[in-house]
Formats: sequence, C-alpha cells, structure tokens
Amino acid sequence: MQTSITVGQASLELVQGDITAQPDLDAIVNAANAQLTTGGGVAGAIHGAAGPQLARAGRALAPIAPGEVVVTDAFNLPNRRVLHALGPVYGRDEPPDELLASCYRQALELAAEEGLTSVGFPAISTGAFGFPLRSAAEVALRTVTDALRQPSSVRLVRFVLFSADDLRVHAEVLADLQT
Ligand code: ADP
Repeated sequence: MQTSITVGQASLELVQGDITAQPDLDAIVNAANAQLTTGGGVAGAIHGAAGPQLARAGRALAPIAPGEVVVTDAFNLPNRRVLHALGPVYGRDEPPDELLASCYRQALELAAEEGLTSVGFPAISTGAFGFPLRSAAEVALRTVTDALRQPSSVRLVRFVLFSADDLRVHAEVLADLQT
C-alpha cells in the first residue's frame, strides 16, 4: 500500500490517526460547522484539545459558507493554526465536488499566505455530512496534488484518516491517480 508521494517540492502522506495528535504540523484542518462551534466528530476532538478559546475565536468569524475556510490560532493544540473548512452536506449543498475541492484549495492557499510549511487534513464531509468516502478521497487527493504543483511554502500535506478502512481507500485512490 503506497502512502506517500512527492508532488513538486512537497510530500503528500496518508496516515491512520488522530488529527489532534500531530505535533509536527504547522496547521491542522477542522471539518467545521457553519457556526464554528464544537459539535461531534473531528470538530469535537479539535475543540476539546484546543480548549474553549477556539470556539470564542470562531464566534468572530462565523457563519461561514460551504467551501469556505477561515483560520484561527490553535490555542492548546500543539500546532500553530487551525484552518476551519466547511464541507458540503452531501445531498444538500451543490455542487458537492466543487464545494469539497474548494475546502482543500482554500486551506492550502491560507496556509501559504501564513507562510506555513505543513498541513494536516481529515477526510472532510465524510462523517456526519455523508459524502461517499471514495468520491471524497478522489476530490481531495486530486485537488491537493494539483495545488502542490504550484509554488507555495507548504512542503508537507498529511491526510490523517481515522480508520484503517479510510486509509486503505485513500491509498487506492492515490495509486489510481498516478496511473
Ligand atoms: P463532517 O461533518 O465534515 O462529515 P466529521 O467530523 O463527522 O465531519 O467526519 C469527518 C471525518 O473525520 C470522518 O472520516 C471521521 O471518521 C473523521 N474523524 C473523526 N474524528 C477524527 C479525529 N480525531 N482525527 C481524524 N479524523 C477524525
């Protein structure tokens, strides 16, 4: 199973793990809700680890629209920044592929504006928001590889997948993208 590739000057890695436990990354991406409040899933884990200041920082920036990304400090997380991306709710927010791609593209643009070198992504929209995992992985990996071919401060993108199955599907999609 291939879990890392080089794209331009950057590495793209796939790992199984918890996005709140990636201390070597400058920024992690939150699969946020529009109000930037805590909620469940990955947002619950990120807010829990960051502390209540994260929701307070979000309040000033909310609401955000599907496909939009905003940046805050990371507070008690071991990272410098949290990039809050609102993925599409599958079956409601249209067109889903473009809105999901926008999350990945805007997150990498914001990271570059902040001069960050490493970013971790969860599988945005594939939990409570219901985006089919394989289609989401295709959009995510295609968008990130396209973005990394452009000049940027970002040298490492890590997809932090929660389950072994999520990791396997992403690895299969990555292999297909290269052929
Ligand atoms: P969304 O509402 O965008 O679908 P969810 O948080 O429900 O977001 O799920 C997005 C993905 O994040 C799912 O694949 C879920 O399994 C995964 N996930 C949940 N907790 C974590 C975590 N601590 N680290 C990484 N991924 C996580």
